[in-house]
Amino acid sequence: MTRRFRHDPPADPITTIGQMMSEAPRWFHVTCNTIGCRNRAAVPLVPLILRWGPHAPREWLDTRFRCTRCGARSTSVTRPSVAPFGVIEEFPANLALPIEKCE
Ligand SMILES: [Zn+2]
Repeated sequence: MTRRFRHDPPADPITTIGQMMSEAPRWFHVTCNTIGCRNRAAVPLVPLILRWGPHAPREWLDTRFRCTRCGARSTSVTRPSVAPFGVIEEFPANLALPIEKCE
């Protein structure tokens, strides 16, 4: 874990999925934005890197998924939580089913 201090320069913004892959956690949550659906999946980065390449823009994660429950293309991406002392949320294997598919 890298500890940041107030006088440190801000970290470079993450603009590609390759940058996201450079440090754990190497997966993310995708949640359907449809009210009443809120379908959720856990998506590992590796298959997306293989499919799109490491220079694919981070924004693609916001626009390339379709909910398999309601069909909506409006989804939100969130990174797993990181607890104090660098303890990272464990990959939820039960949500890793292809609930959301990417296009
Ligand atoms: Zn949905």
